[in-house]
Amino acid sequence: MMEHLRQTRSPGIRVQLTLWYTAIFALLILLFSLILYTTLQAFLASGVDSALQLRAQQIASGVSSESGKIVIQDVTGELPGLDAIATPSEPGKGTPTTNQTGGPNGTGQYGTQSDVNFGTLVRILNGTGQTTYISPAFHALSLPPNSFTNSLHGIPWRDTITAHNGQAVRVYSVALSDNGTVFGVLQVGESLAQLTATLQSITIALLVITPFVLLLGAIGSYWLAKRAFRPVLHLTRTTREIKAGDLHRRVPVPRARDEVYELALTFNEMIGRLDQAFTQQRRFVADASHELRTPITVIRSITDVALEEPLGFDECVEALRDINAETERLSHLINDLLVLARADEEQMPLEQELVRLDLLACDIAATMEPLAMERGIKLQLQMLSPASVFGDTARLILMIMGLVDNALTYTNAGGVVTLGVEVHGVLARLVVRDTGIGIAERDVAHIFERFYRADSARSRLASGSGLGLAIADWVVRAHGGSITVKSQIDQGSTFTITLPLAPTHTGARQ
Ligand code: ADP
Repeated sequence: MMEHLRQTRSPGIRVQLTLWYTAIFALLILLFSLILYTTLQAFLASGVDSALQLRAQQIASGVSSESGKIVIQDVTGELPGLDAIATPSEPGKGTPTTNQTGGPNGTGQYGTQSDVNFGTLVRILNGTGQTTYISPAFHALSLPPNSFTNSLHGIPWRDTITAHNGQAVRVYSVALSDNGTVFGVLQVGESLAQLTATLQSITIALLVITPFVLLLGAIGSYWLAKRAFRPVLHLTRTTREIKAGDLHRRVPVPRARDEVYELALTFNEMIGRLDQAFTQQRRFVADASHELRTPITVIRSITDVALEEPLGFDECVEALRDINAETERLSHLINDLLVLARADEEQMPLEQELVRLDLLACDIAATMEPLAMERGIKLQLQMLSPASVFGDTARLILMIMGLVDNALTYTNAGGVVTLGVEVHGVLARLVVRDTGIGIAERDVAHIFERFYRADSARSRLASGSGLGLAIADWVVRAHGGSITVKSQIDQGSTFTITLPLAPTHTGARQ
């Protein structure tokens, strides 16, 4: 099922990318086609207009006005039917004068000449709007009246007209003048069949080519997406192969410093952190098991001996006392382990109350005094500045007592243990100083680790678990503070706890 999900998910992005690429590509082709079509249309249309204007100029050069009559000379040789309407009074001159009653009907008379697509489209009108000459094909056109009036007033008129057969025709209408005097209007037209055909073939070409181009584009995009995602897939495969047991492995980092490179680095950093956490956890479990086994082994051996041979009353009491001591040690250990386990899961709620650190130090010194006296150590208070912090009184007491207990444990008789509270700006500092055995430099960096005990401590106090400072470190950090140590072998150690002062510190002092 998982395998199936994985397989369906990874090509998804590639397909999505391909679809996006293809959609953008299609949009670009559409835009390009539109621009190409409209530009070409405008270009061809302006070509037709220029050609019409030129033709009109040529025809107009053969048209003149002689005593009110329009005389047409076929300069371009493309005015069909001009001979048929020529006035026989001027035979053979080729400059016939048209009659004024209108041109020949033309339709059917001249074959293709009457077709707007092939025939000549010319009409000449006199100043009153009467047709002097009309080519057969021109009959298929119905021009609006303003085509004549505009031209007569010196404004050339041009428009696209639909002929009777539905064909679009471009018509140009211009005034005929002689020495500045307008005597008629010349109208020339040209079928736009050629232009339409050209545009149509371009449209067909685009319609045929576009799907192929899109298909090629889609295949190309899919291939590219597949290629781009190959390192990611490789990364996924390798990451999947890494099990909890082999967290020392790392994913391959590509040479190119791209996004995949960053991803691989991030993965490796994450695996590194996991590896560290796993190692710590494993060591913690191993150390905890070891520490738990010691008192149990002791209890086992006491009971074994007791069961083997009957004990006297005093021996029985002795055995029970030993068992009791070991059980107490076990119970301490389990308590400490529970505190740390809950702290790891962040399930240890802390009270938030105003605590006077200096008063706390006073009380703790009084409580620990008998123990100090028993060990021949002088426990003294020094520089007790009033300092209030927000926190959990019970946890803070246990933490400070643990530090004082350590100081008393690792200091020989005749030594001095000092407890002090100072205020520095917004910080309160609690100092526990001793003149004891000190801590070797190589151990200082590790004493806050769980179960870590310096060799000198092992020989001194067999029952220590090495969890006290780890718990103290957690308590201080949970209060937003920090704990540091300065120590010198055989000179003594100074533990400094820095905690943020409560905002109401000044108020609390009174
Ligand atoms: P434990 O005291 O049970 O061994 P802790 O976590 O309290 O465990 O302390 C860790 C180690 O730090 C001790 O084993 C000891 O080596 C060292 N240590 C702590 N406090 C002192 C001190 N005041 N003087 C010298 N060494 C100390």
